[in-house]
Amino acid sequence: MDNLPVWLKTSFDAICQQYRQQKLPHGMLIVGHKGDGAGLFMQHLVNYLLCLNPSSTACGHCKSCQLQQSGHHPDYLVIEPEGKSMTIKVDAIRGMNKKVSETAQQGGNKVVYIESAQKMNANAANALLKVLEEPTQNTFILLETDQLGQTLPTIRSRCRIVQLDKPSIEQSLDYLATKGLASDPYSALSVAFLRPLEALTIEKEQLDRWYEAESKFLSNQSFTELSQYIFTTNIDDLYRQILVWVDSAVRLQQNAKIELAPVSEGLLKSLQSQNSVSLFRFRDYIVEKMTAMKRQSNLNAQLLAEDLASRWLEMRGIQ
Ligand SMILES: [Zn+2]
Repeated sequence: MDNLPVWLKTSFDAICQQYRQQKLPHGMLIVGHKGDGAGLFMQHLVNYLLCLNPSSTACGHCKSCQLQQSGHHPDYLVIEPEGKSMTIKVDAIRGMNKKVSETAQQGGNKVVYIESAQKMNANAANALLKVLEEPTQNTFILLETDQLGQTLPTIRSRCRIVQLDKPSIEQSLDYLATKGLASDPYSALSVAFLRPLEALTIEKEQLDRWYEAESKFLSNQSFTELSQYIFTTNIDDLYRQILVWVDSAVRLQQNAKIELAPVSEGLLKSLQSQNSVSLFRFRDYIVEKMTAMKRQSNLNAQLLAEDLASRWLEMRGIQ
């Protein structure tokens, strides 16, 4: 397994210390994004809690660590969203309740990892509440989410919330260097919206598409050409990218410091020179469209493309 990235170490060490002092609560809600290493954090934590002889990390040698490495630890359970609706259902939680009521087979802890905890439906959450309120001995329920606001308040109030740190740009670039990402780490990080573990998975085609969008939006003054181009792209990704441009320009207008602007200088200059009211209005428009896309996936792609082209040109005073 990969080492824990440096920006996650403080949270990890604090949890381990509380565990050694027997002060760790049974239910924890870990908040972080997988692209910032939250998945890796959870793996390290699970291994630590299962290890029979942990020090600053899991020992890696005991019977429990070996079972965990083989992927068949009898006292470990993962629950993840399933089915068409991608939800965590009550049956999965009931199965877990039964498991944690049994004695640990390896004589250590029982650990449950609930992935994307915000996907729990109300019945599943109710079933989980019982375990959180009356925990069985040596049991740790680790819930993970990148959307704290979407998790149910009843669950939040019964768990300790651990907010994972985000990496600085410098830490992210160091991390990418140790992972051997030598060619253009700045761009990969930009395209991954500054998430280093996501940056590792960015392929050249994605980088090419990113730059193509910039040049098309900067140079195109024709409504027809621009809307035709937008129609050929994944408009959801494009909204996200445009939001990054606009936010970078707004921050520059407010004289805020930008550590790494994931936008070409030409485009940034052009946006920065716009009237800030129309820039904000355009930003509102993009956010509104992103929200609409989340709610409804069958929107008319041609209309969306034409609308975006027209709003973009209007904001820049071209049309
Ligand atoms: Zn061990």
